Amino acid sequence: MNAPVIKTDAGHQGWEAIASDPASAVIATDFDGVLSPLVEDPARSRPVEGALDALARLARSVKQVAIVTGRPALVATELSGVSGHPGLGHLVVLGHYGLERWDAATGKVTSAPVPAGVATARDRLPGLLRDAGVPDAFVEDKDSSLAVHTRRLEDPAGAFDVLRGPLTALAEETELRLEPGNLVLELRPPGIDKGVAIGSLLESTGARSILYAGDDLGDLAAYRAIQARRAGGLPAVLLATRSSNATELIDAADIVVDDPSGVVTVLTALSDAIAAR
Ligand SMILES: [Mg+2]
Repeated sequence: MNAPVIKTDAGHQGWEAIASDPASAVIATDFDGVLSPLVEDPARSRPVEGALDALARLARSVKQVAIVTGRPALVATELSGVSGHPGLGHLVVLGHYGLERWDAATGKVTSAPVPAGVATARDRLPGLLRDAGVPDAFVEDKDSSLAVHTRRLEDPAGAFDVLRGPLTALAEETELRLEPGNLVLELRPPGIDKGVAIGSLLESTGARSILYAGDDLGDLAAYRAIQARRAGGLPAVLLATRSSNATELIDAADIVVDDPSGVVTVLTALSDAIAAR
């Protein structure tokens, strides 16, 4: 297996730290666009071939393997098929940007309370979409957040632009935050993002190094949280896929791959590097 191209010194240091002391490392990865190819219908998302086995192999030597996603924890757990997968008995799935946590060891989800603004926004959304001229935009109800997808509309980019203003106003009224993604606008409780999720994961595990893989703007918060700790001495590897064409994320990454198959290659190379020590 060829070693991946690491384009930064910090990335090399992170890779070396994980390979030489895997028992104190955390491997955290987004689901959509990183383990699974992006698909039109989010309910049809499935991990690319080899993804779970690559995670399971790493799980044998590292401190913690985690999936960090905007999806509800149980949805990501079901779509990914991690439950009961050999070698993933200690995996955690941080869902809703960390609002929920599924533990493979118990099979249970724990979650934080949902703010009242989510129910108000849920009631108001159909009217808002009608008024904006895009009544067919797909609303993914994640219980504690609401994601409006424009991917399946005739003019996805145009609909995205049209909805941004009204959804920003609705977010303000309901004390939620509007988080833009790849042809998706999500109304989400404030103070919840993948950066906070990664911060708690690092604290709870006492990890001394981390690899994080993402593809979309929602992963930037995780990148920033890790970059801040890296400046403080935590070795880290930031991996990005081009799935969402999130330029800012790709520019900040230490390793860039085209798609989820590329992620499998990198994770496998990391396991090989660990095994070679
Ligand atoms: Mg993603």
